[in-house]
Amino acid sequence: MFRTLIAALAALVASTAVLAQDYPNRTISITVPFAAGGPTDTVARLISQSMTKSLGQTVIVENVAGAGGTIGPKKVAASKPDGYNLVLMHIGISTSVSLYRNLGYSPVTDLEPIGLITDVPMTFIARKDFPPKDMKELIAYVKANKDKVTYANAGVGAASHLCGMLFMTAIQTDLTTVPYKGTGPAMTDLMGGQVDFMCDQTTNTTPQIKGGKVKAYAVTTSTRVKSLPDLPTVQEAGIKDFHVGVWHGLWAPKGTPKPVIDKLAAALQAALKDPSVVTKFAELGTEPVPQDQATPAALAKHLKAEVDKWAPIIKKAGIYAD
Ligand code: ASP
Repeated sequence: MFRTLIAALAALVASTAVLAQDYPNRTISITVPFAAGGPTDTVARLISQSMTKSLGQTVIVENVAGAGGTIGPKKVAASKPDGYNLVLMHIGISTSVSLYRNLGYSPVTDLEPIGLITDVPMTFIARKDFPPKDMKELIAYVKANKDKVTYANAGVGAASHLCGMLFMTAIQTDLTTVPYKGTGPAMTDLMGGQVDFMCDQTTNTTPQIKGGKVKAYAVTTSTRVKSLPDLPTVQEAGIKDFHVGVWHGLWAPKGTPKPVIDKLAAALQAALKDPSVVTKFAELGTEPVPQDQATPAALAKHLKAEVDKWAPIIKKAGIYAD
């Protein structure tokens, strides 16, 4: 019995070593829990192109959208822990823990962290012909027209949901929300005039703001964003302490061998130093995290802190999903 156990353990260690040694030997998939063409998708595509170069295998992006970005991570958490199924998700992975009564998995215990990626500012934008001219007017307008104004988001658990929730709490006004599978499709509808306004990452809104296709009001960071210098902060418009930054991370299923995680973390770190990624990030209003943050330990620590930070805020807002 004891011998059999030892033999089984030895076989497991040996197979893990073999797996790690010739890893990767086929295509790696990064699941994005939102629709293609949106901000999370943009970050994933930039990272995957660079990781493809350093890993020597193609890294593809797969969009598994729905339920505010909770379906994708759940699917990856349940997949084989062999390093070929990863998920790139943002701050929403920490808020969903408190927002959902039955999340169906735990990002803390069912996923293996690889590293943090970037912290992206958000922007308040509206359809081009939306009447308010600046952030102060926007606040007054939505308060006065709360029954007809519509706010687009990517579902309960999305960053756009979180930003909208904080905004509505701050101005003490409930608005009609229109959920999409991602803010890529929400942006299309916003530009088409089907919805009024939204709060979304600069990785999606910068080209539309610069191209004059949407009306931009403010950034959600405490300081202005270099690539959009004319845009005031929400705090400048009078909402004290308003700050939302959309941090992104990369995970594998729990149980993925450490040598595999280490290879992926090294490839992520290389991507975050890759000039093509750095330049594109800067154009889109963001920058890579420092190298020592693109590590499993840093992401594990950050996720835990964020789960703890948002739990009481969400409880107070009283928003739940099933
Ligand atoms: N920006 C979206 C969000 O609200 C997600 C996306 O479409 O990438 O979280």
